[in-house]
Amino acid sequence: ESFTDMCLHPGIMKDIAFHEYTRPTSIQAQAMPVALNGRDLLGCAETGSGKTAAFTIPMIQHCLAQLPIRRGDGPLALVLAPTRELAQQIEKEVKAFSRSLESFKTAIVVGGTNIAEQRSELRAGVNIVVATPGRFIDHLQQGNTFLSRISFVVLDEADRMLDMGFEPQIREVMRNLPKKHQTLLFSATMPVEIETLAQEYLTNPVQVKV
Ligand code: AMP
Repeated sequence: ESFTDMCLHPGIMKDIAFHEYTRPTSIQAQAMPVALNGRDLLGCAETGSGKTAAFTIPMIQHCLAQLPIRRGDGPLALVLAPTRELAQQIEKEVKAFSRSLESFKTAIVVGGTNIAEQRSELRAGVNIVVATPGRFIDHLQQGNTFLSRISFVVLDEADRMLDMGFEPQIREVMRNLPKKHQTLLFSATMPVEIETLAQEYLTNPVQVKV
């Protein structure tokens, strides 16, 4: 499998070439075709495997197939990650693969940073939000953002999110999503808690492992 076989948007292909990613890593070769096909995915992968691009690229491609974003619109895609550092890394990758795409907007919503700035960014309308669960729920409760247009969700490092006590926030989000959405769940380990979460929130998922 190569990136060329994946029918990616030419803008995304350009950014892949710019990053000198010549071939997909194992997790990318397994997960990207599944995600691009609209299927739910349960991915067992650690940092360093290339998992960020494995979900970031299909997520961007998914957003490109939706209507353009206007002021006041809620996001089309959401990534939840356990820590601010990881969220920043993911946002960087989203920006890297959407550089060539006109008016494609991403917001990062994490604790310990200016909430007013995040609010105005969210209210302006964004395609993708990368967030830590606690701060994302704060913004939802304040009416700064909405779940109503989300059709693509990524739970990254789900085992760490559970370890950090974010299960209620994850459930709050998953429970209130529009019916029609695609979910990708990545976890380095697969304890029973993750399997339960996957059973509850993923629909007929494809499992991949590296
Ligand atoms: P991750 O596991 O997502 O944190 O990625 C680990 C590192 O691999 C990052 O520095 C990526 O930039 C890099 N990387 C991801 N995919 C590829 C690829 N297909 N070819 C070369 N490097 C990659």
